[in-house]
Amino acid sequence: MEQNEDLNQFEIPQAKRIYVNKSNSILKKLLIFSPFLFLLFSFFALRLIRNIEIGSLGNINFQTQINRDHRILGHLPYSEIPKEKLVLIEPSIRVHIDMRDSLLEMRDEAKKNGVYLVFLSGYRSINLQNEIFYSLKSFRNQEAAERARVSAPPGYSEHSTGFAIDIGDATKREADFETEFENTEAFKWLIKNAAKFHFKLSFTKDNKFIDYEPWHWRYEGSIEALKVFERSNRKS
Ligand SMILES: [Zn+2]
Repeated sequence: MEQNEDLNQFEIPQAKRIYVNKSNSILKKLLIFSPFLFLLFSFFALRLIRNIEIGSLGNINFQTQINRDHRILGHLPYSEIPKEKLVLIEPSIRVHIDMRDSLLEMRDEAKKNGVYLVFLSGYRSINLQNEIFYSLKSFRNQEAAERARVSAPPGYSEHSTGFAIDIGDATKREADFETEFENTEAFKWLIKNAAKFHFKLSFTKDNKFIDYEPWHWRYEGSIEALKVFERSNRKS
């Protein structure tokens, strides 16, 4: 018994010593590892800073990419079609020779389905686009950026390529050049059938620079046309 009591008496201080030793060892470990912890912290901090820098660099890259397109107010530049490639399809409407047949076939096909397409505007010279853009802009008291949402600046219109056509519904002329054209039979037919004739809607609802133009279609049925719109298609 005495021996046991002695042992117990002996064990208590030993336990205390172990506890003191433990807390000491944690402190020691912390001291030993503190440079590593500091390094680890610095590593993550540096990574965070780098990521932020890469993020802002990404933004700069994105901006230069847009600038590399040479866009003006969201419009891509288009050169004027050589005159010898233009053909008359209506008394006042000329288009690129490549798209004439497809365009006329499309109108005939629609007619067979009881839908009457009317061509409103085809090729427009840069000079005419200049008049449209600047006269309407001042007439409507609009700033350039505002006007550019609904009309291309001169040198930046798909119409100068001869591959663009504005289409209306012959039975609903009040919808010409209006967003409500999308409710006409002509538009509904075009959405279902235009691709068969290689036509594509240029300015859809999700275009962030230019307003939705349900009447404006472009031809992509020849290599020349595809080349002309390559940049535009790459973006969308
Ligand atoms: Zn147009």
